[in-house]
Amino acid sequence: MLEEDMEVAIKVVVVGNGAVGKSSMIQRYCKGIFTKDYKKTIGVDFLERQIAVNGEDVRLLLWDTAGQEEFDAITKAYYRGAQACVLVFSTTDRESFQSIQTWKEKVEAEVGDVPTVLVQNKIDLLEETVIKNEEAEALAKRLKLRFYRTSVKEDLNVTEGVFNTSSSNVCNQ
Ligand code: GDP
Repeated sequence: MLEEDMEVAIKVVVVGNGAVGKSSMIQRYCKGIFTKDYKKTIGVDFLERQIAVNGEDVRLLLWDTAGQEEFDAITKAYYRGAQACVLVFSTTDRESFQSIQTWKEKVEAEVGDVPTVLVQNKIDLLEETVIKNEEAEALAKRLKLRFYRTSVKEDLNVTEGVFNTSSSNVCNQ
């Protein structure tokens, strides 16, 4: 068998309200860049990064919603075959926090109970923070999710935290 045939690929869906930093997080992880005015590339479904989990090569395919979430128009193709999920809200946007449970239920309805992490993004914006740590932690506890506080801008907890956990959760389940 060719080596490529044996490669493991994991599809991860990144969901949450618009403007919480989902595309930026995927860009940061896969390309190592942060651009403030990053515009979603029409037609690109996912970016990928090759990593090693338990000494094995794994391709992590990170699916971007390309703005569809704003119209509640995410297609079934987006969720199809997802093996892990990253739920993102912004610490500066209470509505995005309040929508987390609904997002979780949408994903569950499509793909069942896959390994999922909760992410509080934009923690560099201290002055604009409206979500207290305790309430975010309480939500994570209630929904039984691993929880990370990230700044995509400052590159805090994205690579070492969120995606590291997502991939090892899938590979070790
Ligand atoms: P999406 O709609 O959820 O994909 O959000 P985007 O990735 O398009 O990000 C929305 C805006 O938030 C953009 O202007 C990003 O540059 C900005 N942004 C994303 N992550 C962070 C962060 O951690 N800190 C700050 N200050 N801005 C961020």
